[in-house]
Amino acid sequence: MYFVANWKMYGNKADIDNSTSLISLSKLKKYKKHKIIYCPPYTLLKTFYDNIKKSNISIGAQNCHSNSDYGAFTGSINAKLIKSTGAKYIILGHSENRNTGESDLIINKKIHSAIKENLIIIYCIGEKLSEKRKKNTYKVLKKQLTKGLKGTKKFENIIIAYEPVWSIGTGIIPKNSELSRNINNIKKILAKLKKSINTKILYGGSVNPKNVRELAQIKEINGFLIGGASLSAKKFIDIIKKSIN
Ligand code: PEP
Repeated sequence: MYFVANWKMYGNKADIDNSTSLISLSKLKKYKKHKIIYCPPYTLLKTFYDNIKKSNISIGAQNCHSNSDYGAFTGSINAKLIKSTGAKYIILGHSENRNTGESDLIINKKIHSAIKENLIIIYCIGEKLSEKRKKNTYKVLKKQLTKGLKGTKKFENIIIAYEPVWSIGTGIIPKNSELSRNINNIKKILAKLKKSINTKILYGGSVNPKNVRELAQIKEINGFLIGGASLSAKKFIDIIKKSIN
């Protein structure tokens, strides 16, 4: 199981210190084979990495600039710079970035630049509430997968995070049957695109210690992308424990 903490635009040094309580958990036999990944803001990547480098925990970024080379892009950070912090993973295509105008084309460029740096990509896809209401979920997922992953070969370095936009930060989660159906559709689309059928698929959207036991019942889910609840080390540990027990 993958447990990815997306800290969004939150977090400071004290939060990192609290999160190191997960180091001992990650070393226990029961949890060793699972992946715990922290994605703090860019400014904390290096400090976080220095704190966890001797543990089983990994670090990831939340986005990057689409240009793979260095260049005159004030205020931006590319995959090369992210790699130099010790990060191993990168979240791309998050709906909060799509909402500010990030297109599938730009995301595809970012994915290629991350592959070039050997970063493992957590590619977020998911439908908006209006698209769900119009019964367009399958169409949206297919478009995001087809356009976002265009030209990718090294597919073993890509994890899909299915995040219904209407579920992010709202406390509302899909029914297990709906989640299973959408994840199976993602697998079918990937197979049609001749991408790996063994691709790991995570769920993201309002995961918390109260609902995770139920969500973890869904056999198609290989882990969770967790926003709000991951800022509390206590809640994050609780989520991990309840998913695995
Ligand atoms: C996210 O930001 O990817 C996310 C799933 O957020 P939350 O858990 O807060 O809904």
